[in-house]
Amino acid sequence: MDVPEHLGHREAAEALPLVTESAVVTEVAAMDENRTEAVEGALEALFARNGVGDWYRDPAGEDGEGLQGADVDWDRVESRARDAGFPSDDLDALSDLVARYERPYPSLLRVRVRIEDDVPLDFAPGQYATVTFDGHPRPYSIASSPTADELEFCIRRVPGGTLTSDVFQSLEVGDEVTVRGPNGELVLGDPSERDVAFLATGTGVAPFKSMLDYVYETDRHVVDGHERDVWLFLGAAYEDDLAYREAFRELDREHDGFHFVPTLTRERHLGEWTGETAYVQRVLLEYVAEDAVDASALPTALREYASATPALDVDTRIDPGNVDVYACGVTAMVDQLVAATRAIGVPDDRTRFEGFG
Ligand SMILES: Cc1cc2nc3c(=O)[nH]c(=O)nc-3n(C[C@H](O)[C@H](O)[C@H](O)COP(=O)(O)OP(=O)(O)OC[C@H]3O[C@@H](n4cnc5c(N)ncnc54)[C@H](O)[C@@H]3O)c2cc1C
Repeated sequence: MDVPEHLGHREAAEALPLVTESAVVTEVAAMDENRTEAVEGALEALFARNGVGDWYRDPAGEDGEGLQGADVDWDRVESRARDAGFPSDDLDALSDLVARYERPYPSLLRVRVRIEDDVPLDFAPGQYATVTFDGHPRPYSIASSPTADELEFCIRRVPGGTLTSDVFQSLEVGDEVTVRGPNGELVLGDPSERDVAFLATGTGVAPFKSMLDYVYETDRHVVDGHERDVWLFLGAAYEDDLAYREAFRELDREHDGFHFVPTLTRERHLGEWTGETAYVQRVLLEYVAEDAVDASALPTALREYASATPALDVDTRIDPGNVDVYACGVTAMVDQLVAATRAIGVPDDRTRFEGFG
């Protein structure tokens, strides 16, 4: 079960039906946060912990000017840390913090577009549309429910990326974009009696936002009077990289059967994070019923997680023989998610997935 290759952008776009060349952008809004101050505070604390005060002063600089601000010489800061004998965990933390400091803000956008009233666009929750802006067509999962008035996308800035560089620099409310589609096999299946686990990394959560909105709007979480357990495992680096975090938390509060399990690999650098921190496929293992899996048969990288205690207090567990799985994100991650679901015994025909390339 390998994640399928996608056609070239233009080729793939032209093969799709044209919906409109004049979808109007109605909202462009940051979903992440500017956390520069928190990063500076974390750097200060990191250096202080290792006995280096005044970390941003240039020790070799002739004028004694601070390193803080636009002209930080990060190579020098990092060599200062090495000279001070930082342990390897702290050197890793430093390089994560430097990357976050340098990351442009915003890096995650919610983009809404309105299609003319007389233009039909029927899509199934989970499908994607191909959006062309400034001559560049790219596929984006539709994050809104088919019942919504407008289409919503959630777009991550890819450093050096052709379309996303344009979008983050100049897309504005009132601009017109071309929309083709819909397309994609990652669609919501008919309601079954089985539970559901959505596994996503980053913006891979977009198709699941559409599915979840639709499921709870139309009561598809209840089958024959029984409320299915619906899990969303969502991996990202920092908390503000979790698209739709408030909506998912709200859903978690409203529905006993909905379980939102975010896992953040780097949030601990910037604040108190008591939630999960491992990769999604490992965190999944923690919430699978222990007696349903033969831990000794699991790949080594997953084995220890089968008996680990989850960070969240959820009073139920996943039965791999009774769950439909959906996985989406960057292709390399999706390959690993699919391998993990297969390793715990979810049958292939109950796993649907899509990679973003
Ligand atoms: C079916 C499908 C659905 C998609 N849905 C979304 C979505 O909902 N939101 C979204 O932000 N993107 C989504 N993408 C990715 C999107 O189509 C573009 O590839 C992405 O926005 C980069 O475009 P670009 O022109 O800026 O980069 P390009 O100049 O085309 O290429 C940049 C490189 O970055 C890689 N890349 C693509 N996406 C990422 C990523 N998220 N992180 C790191 N590297 C990446 C590409 O493989 C490529 O090698 C989806 C892709 C597919 C195939």
